[in-house]
Amino acid sequence: MRLLIIPIGAIDSDVLKDISDALEKTFHCKVEFGKEISLPHDLYNNKRGQYHSTRILRRLHPFKTKDFHRVLGVMDADLYVPELNFVFGEADILAGVTVIALARLRQEFYGLNPDKDLFHLRAVKEAIHEIGHTYGLGHCPDPKCIMYFSNSLKDTDKKGPGFCDICKHELNILVSED
Ligand SMILES: [Zn+2]
Ligand SMILES: [Zn+2]
Repeated sequence: MRLLIIPIGAIDSDVLKDISDALEKTFHCKVEFGKEISLPHDLYNNKRGQYHSTRILRRLHPFKTKDFHRVLGVMDADLYVPELNFVFGEADILAGVTVIALARLRQEFYGLNPDKDLFHLRAVKEAIHEIGHTYGLGHCPDPKCIMYFSNSLKDTDKKGPGFCDICKHELNILVSED
């Protein structure tokens, strides 16, 4: 499996490296980086101060070529879908295209002191979660499992980065069928 990471706007290279390493380890895949693309200003909602997640996924579709089985867009901004206040990320399961947003993963977002390790770990978790969806894994009821739905950062901090036994088993089957 080959996975392409597309930085959308400028992204810290250390966090990209951690995401890439974690994905290679978790999904036994080869990760490559595409060229940075610019932030899609036309998908920015001024009132919300956020970018439209689902439309960004659509923009990423052309990057899903025969050379890559999965695409992950990484944005250092905040994302939304109309029904929700925000999303940490989103996956187009059929297309194998995903996006994650880093803005809310920093302690500074909540007026707290920066914590680089925690920020990186959260980014890794969101990436694994979204790529997990592209294998067909749904949300898991186990709060410790990476496939648990994060309603808030508290949920993200409690879960993963590993899979529960049931999801791990299911993923092994799905990976072999992939
Ligand atoms: Zn999810
Ligand atoms: Zn699970």
